[in-house]
Amino acid sequence: MNIKNYKCYKCFYESRISNVKAHVNRKNKCKRSIDCNYTDQECDILNQAQFDKDNYKKIQNGNLVEIINIDTQNQIINNIQNQNNITNNHITINIDKLISFNDDWDIDNLKESQKNNLLVTNLMYTQLLKIILETEFNNNVIIENKESTHGLIFKKVNNHKQYEEISIDEIINESMIKLHKQLSTIYDNFLSTNEKYDSDNSFSDHVLKQKNLTNQKLTDFLNNKKIKNTVIDIVKKIYIDNKEDAILNQKQALSNLKNHTVINLKNGY
Ligand SMILES: [Zn+2]
Repeated sequence: MNIKNYKCYKCFYESRISNVKAHVNRKNKCKRSIDCNYTDQECDILNQAQFDKDNYKKIQNGNLVEIINIDTQNQIINNIQNQNNITNNHITINIDKLISFNDDWDIDNLKESQKNNLLVTNLMYTQLLKIILETEFNNNVIIENKESTHGLIFKKVNNHKQYEEISIDEIINESMIKLHKQLSTIYDNFLSTNEKYDSDNSFSDHVLKQKNLTNQKLTDFLNNKKIKNTVIDIVKKIYIDNKEDAILNQKQALSNLKNHTVINLKNGY
């Protein structure tokens, strides 16, 4: 047996049992591998399960689903079926709908009340991003934790879909520019439809001010280092809070991509 047969299911570090045990039990969390599509909880379960002989064999045979249904105390949960159902129910999205990070997010489902709120709040960027990430197929960014310097984005290049690691700076920059564009559209739409109802223009004036404020915030973000760093922390946290859903999308996307390969093989390339 290969001595380096144990591994961390999060960062894919491989070594002998004592090293891996020390690694997964250390205080400092390791960096998620680009190929890892387990949630934090699944990583913990898989990491602990490999130190148990019976479970270890199952991992070697690739029966990950079975292992994932074993809790951290290594007690077999009898409701494997139920757990599978829960997982499947969660993934209701058609993965083809998962939006590429280089495209605009889908804001067609915005409620009237949410739009109205964006017309008056000073926190328009963070509020819009939170609303956007409530829609599953918008969830295309995975940021691990506060200390992360990089994150994963889902990306389509021509017809090729992939997860790519890019810097937090790039993620937040792109996010702010996209949010700015979408906020501007929301304000412009409001201004063009509201004109005829707003007899003394008072609300239109307000929305115009709101639009200017939104522009100013982006300018400050792009030019003022202090503001930029603060914004990065705030936006980063929103992504971290949505991490579990984003990982479930990744899991679905990657298994889908594998299926594509199989189909291509059958067609003989
Ligand atoms: Zn690790």
